[in-house]
Amino acid sequence: MLPTKENIQTVGKALREGMLAGIPTETVYGLAADALNGKAVSEIFKAKGRPMDNPLIVHISDFFQIERFSLVREIPKAVYALAEKFWPGPLTIIMPKGSAIPDEVSAGLDTVAIRFPSHPVTKAVITAADRPLAAPSANTSGSPSPTTAGHVYHDMQGKIPYILDGGICEVGVESTVVTLCTDVPTLLRPGGITPLQLESVLGKIQISDAVLHKLKDGEKAESPGMKYKHYAPRANLILVKAEDEKYRDFVNSKADNTVGALCYDEDEKFLNVRTFVFGAKNDYSSQANRLFDALREIDETDIQTVYGRCPDTEGMALAVYNRLIRSAGFEVIELA
Ligand code: AMP
Ligand code: MG
Repeated sequence: MLPTKENIQTVGKALREGMLAGIPTETVYGLAADALNGKAVSEIFKAKGRPMDNPLIVHISDFFQIERFSLVREIPKAVYALAEKFWPGPLTIIMPKGSAIPDEVSAGLDTVAIRFPSHPVTKAVITAADRPLAAPSANTSGSPSPTTAGHVYHDMQGKIPYILDGGICEVGVESTVVTLCTDVPTLLRPGGITPLQLESVLGKIQISDAVLHKLKDGEKAESPGMKYKHYAPRANLILVKAEDEKYRDFVNSKADNTVGALCYDEDEKFLNVRTFVFGAKNDYSSQANRLFDALREIDETDIQTVYGRCPDTEGMALAVYNRLIRSAGFEVIELA
């Protein structure tokens, strides 16, 4: 339904009563529940089929809610500087967990992830609920995150009572996650705020191994979400790291009606296979914005093998690379 004032009040009340709702944010659509109600939060895990050891992000609509609701044990100093620069916005900060956070939210860790989103509808819903909201992406676990209300409906129909339609998500990939609970601040997940932007406030940061590489069997993930297969279409997706012409020649050499290409705008006219475009080559924001929709589009076809362009790893492109490499199960062909 549309996010009218009335509908936002209805959803706010439902959330306060322990129900779930699909809501737009500037990153991706969230599946929200009252973050202080462990039972409501456990319904999120059921609806998504999400492993219980993958913690959720708690969303606020006012900085003072962190103290008001006892969300953290203490606010690390750097939070103020980060908040000043990047909140409200696509940045999640991990802090020491406060007494009010149920185990369902933190998956038993002694830390909690907090974000102050900028989307006016998200803020209005949190304010209407008068509760912090736990909200992971509103997709079935493992599939691409939803960037439209239609995507949420596709995955959640029959499982949740409300979906607010706020149009297409502006950023298109999930928030940047940084932890302040390590000696040196560590990037756990790249997103709309880049490593350079974080370093402009925090000084040198570390980038968790799991951002760029596959975890080895038995290796512990600093961010539990990084260990799961994620964002995968049904078709077999393989990334191809190559210059423009080599990529196009390679894909055309494989052309038949079971093969597709997950490519940039600029590639489309050179390819002889079904194409799924995820933005322009040098416009990383457009890639983030279109990636998940392109992955979902693949699922609407019978294409069996998709050759995807391997994105850059600079700036916002790092967030796109991080998602796509997981979609492809880390399968990359490198053409010299
Ligand atoms: P999602 O809610 O689907 O955007 O996923 C949230 C991401 O944040 C997952 O990758 C989680 O593993 C990560 N996360 C949430 N809370 C924590 C925490 N306390 N420590 C480390 N990572 C966390
Ligand atoms: Mg998710």
